[in-house]
Amino acid sequence: MFPSAMSRFAAVLVAVLFSSLFHSQPASAAPAKRVSGERPNIIVIFADDLGYGDLACFGHPTINTPHLDRMAAEGMRFTQFYSAAPVCTPSRAALMTGRLPARNGMCSDRRRVLFPNSKGGIPASEITIAEALRAQGYATACVGKWHLGHLPPFLPTANGFDSYFGIPYSNDMDRVNDAPKGRASFLHPRVAYWNVPLMRNEKIVERPADQTTITKRYTEEAVSFIRAHKDQPFFLYLPHSLPHVPLFRSKKFEDVSLRGLYGDVIEEVDWSVGQVLNTLRQEGLAENTLVFFTSDNGPWLTFNEHGGSAGLLRDGKGTTFEGGMREPTVAWWPGTIKPGSICRELASTMDVFATAHTLSGAELPQDRVLDSHDLTPVLRGQGKSSREAIFYYRGYRLMAVRKGPFKAHLITQTSYRADGRKAISHDPPLLYQLEHDPSEKYNVAKDHPEVIQEIRAAIKKHLAAMKPAPSQLEL
Ligand code: MG
Repeated sequence: MFPSAMSRFAAVLVAVLFSSLFHSQPASAAPAKRVSGERPNIIVIFADDLGYGDLACFGHPTINTPHLDRMAAEGMRFTQFYSAAPVCTPSRAALMTGRLPARNGMCSDRRRVLFPNSKGGIPASEITIAEALRAQGYATACVGKWHLGHLPPFLPTANGFDSYFGIPYSNDMDRVNDAPKGRASFLHPRVAYWNVPLMRNEKIVERPADQTTITKRYTEEAVSFIRAHKDQPFFLYLPHSLPHVPLFRSKKFEDVSLRGLYGDVIEEVDWSVGQVLNTLRQEGLAENTLVFFTSDNGPWLTFNEHGGSAGLLRDGKGTTFEGGMREPTVAWWPGTIKPGSICRELASTMDVFATAHTLSGAELPQDRVLDSHDLTPVLRGQGKSSREAIFYYRGYRLMAVRKGPFKAHLITQTSYRADGRKAISHDPPLLYQLEHDPSEKYNVAKDHPEVIQEIRAAIKKHLAAMKPAPSQLEL
């Protein structure tokens, strides 16, 4: 037996023993048959550069998202849910590991994300959600944009996923030399301008990837994975390559949206969500599957109409203002989550890690600092999350801290050219009461010296326990 087959066998064995212990059923042959109500499937659908204001159920006036709206009506909307970084690579690493990027090494002050010439990737010492769930007998698949290293030791199949299908980094990389320079190639995108690979497991199967059908093909892959694994617990990670620029959509979604090209792209992603949820309903898995929908970071505003909207939140991708890191998030689990509920508590993509551990029966690792708080009490309507703060980093620099409703900016840096995009330090920090002022307009620092003092104490405590890992982005 190969080592991977061996560990799968061991994982299935553990799962069978686990289920027999708790349900007094005779252990059956592998794969572990599902026991209703226990160890739900987990699906994470992750958009790329989607803004807080880009879904109809989060207030967009002209983008039509009936499937996400239904998901929200049947599930829970999170209105204060954060990614762990305002750009792709560190954000994804934090989702996968439940740890701040500064702890897991997928972080840099100079290079903000991995590029096609990067040699690094997610360190083998990190534990991914997929590794934890696979050890509990879950089938695992990653379908979409990975961006945690495209060389063999760093691919999804080396990080707990049984299979991988997707573009391993951003869809705007590998731009060919004869493509129009600068923004022109983005404003009139053609598939041939970006020589990005499409991979199946460790092999390139198409290059350049036909991005016009990428959302459709990710969806087909996701649906067939669900159908193939309906009789055992599974974890599906579905990180779409879009709506990151350049924007592409399939024929069926050309010119369907009042919002133009960007709207077409979102409406196809919405269709994809509908396909996934309908498959779960058809296969009788809806009540045994937790689905999260969220995004890796806010809208890329510098691309004007080709970038999304953070709605009433300030700024967007790349910044630690709210528009850069607060994401439109929906959780769906019929029969467990109260339909139409809204969670206004602080939550983070990093919390998916602890939540997945609880639901699968996995023990949280004890040998490392985690930044993950279990959301199961919130999802079940039985309690609150233990999360009290959000730490906003840009690379290794702590830029801002939110504690309760207050957010203090130590350093700000906008994405707007007109502002010079320079880092500006603030002492005393800028202070916003985000529940009164979600747009971060009114600095209330002088009215709340006690809050600033409290946040300074929280920063001191946080930094004292922080042992940043060396950057793997610059290797
Ligand atoms: Mg992104």
